[in-house]
Amino acid sequence: RRRLESELEDIRGAGTWKNERVIASRQGPHLCLAGGGAGILNFCANNYLGLSSHPEVIRAAVEALEKFGAGLSSVRFICGTQSIHKDLEEKIARFHQREDAILYASCFDANAGIFEALLTPEDAVLSDELNHASIIDGIRLCKANKYRYKHMDMQDLEAKLQDAQKHRLRLVATDGAFSMDGDIAPLREICQLAQKYDALVFIDECHATGFLGPNGRGTDELLGVMDKVTIINSTLGKALGGAAGGYTTGPKPLIDLLRQCSRPYLFSNSLPPAVVGCASKALDLLMESNAIAQSMAAKTQRFRSKMMAAGFTILGKDHPICPVMLGDARLAAVVAGDSDSPCVSSPGIYVIGFSYPVVPKGKARIRVQISAVHSDEDIDRCVEAFTEVGRKHGALP
Ligand code: PLP
Repeated sequence: RRRLESELEDIRGAGTWKNERVIASRQGPHLCLAGGGAGILNFCANNYLGLSSHPEVIRAAVEALEKFGAGLSSVRFICGTQSIHKDLEEKIARFHQREDAILYASCFDANAGIFEALLTPEDAVLSDELNHASIIDGIRLCKANKYRYKHMDMQDLEAKLQDAQKHRLRLVATDGAFSMDGDIAPLREICQLAQKYDALVFIDECHATGFLGPNGRGTDELLGVMDKVTIINSTLGKALGGAAGGYTTGPKPLIDLLRQCSRPYLFSNSLPPAVVGCASKALDLLMESNAIAQSMAAKTQRFRSKMMAAGFTILGKDHPICPVMLGDARLAAVVAGDSDSPCVSSPGIYVIGFSYPVVPKGKARIRVQISAVHSDEDIDRCVEAFTEVGRKHGALP
């Protein structure tokens, strides 16, 4: 106990303690917080398309729960596969225009399972230095030769690919869209290099699936390289209904191999039917029409342009992750509000500030995330709150 308490004290002392705000309502643009705080405008969920509380998504979950039960009490290969799991896998593969797909309990698990199953000590994996923690952990679990290239630096990737020619197979692994900066991997260039050096490309599409590209297929569709990216991992826990779950989609023999060898798949319970029902309905809605994704894109554009006109610097381009750059960690904390008032000060806007060590020193920011279910008035209120609080604390002239 003493050792843990001193460790906890160190975390507090370093200013990196994370508080969890307790929400007393559904996920959505307007929240009630436990213990009061109604009508809070929420700008920090990954609920990009607003499907977490979409009535059809909820109805599909209830129907699946009633028909297929609360859960499987089993992993997939023992007695945990229902028709809805197979249907969802088929739908995911169709959505991404890939041969097959495999479900996991989360994308964290999908990332934990793929590298070890696919790569041996004869192979090499080349990973962007800012890849998500779950990719980093997944790579740690495999015995391949590891290369870490500088963030989106194609010269560095090329140098590392040249060095990796001595290995049997090369896999370039990158987030499609990076969650801290809202920037998008240069997939065209990555795929060109992969072709030149005979490498495969893996992308993590957690912050892209459902809304990037003309039909919301993701970064590979946006950048016109759907036929050049071999493996996609993504989540069902963000834009696709927001419940939980993850998957890998790609060539059939790879998916077959994962079903045989991928440890988080083999040794963890099947996705619960209600969760499968949510994701399946979310995909139906997105395959019917791209209107929801377009509405989110328009709102993102509104927020970004109004904030820039007000004098703020926003990283990234066109992505609903809008990092409002403040530089100074204390300023970011003050503008985001402290743990007791989790808002851009009094106007009641719920956002989160990030500072070192989550982002580099001097690059503190508040990450605003736009959703299709924000109204134009919500967006304008958020911009006004930032402007008011930014002026008050010297973030704006
Ligand atoms: N990959 C990226 C880029 C993410 O942002 C996340 C979630 O934060 C994950 C993987 C993990 O996804 P899941 O919540 O499905 O485990």
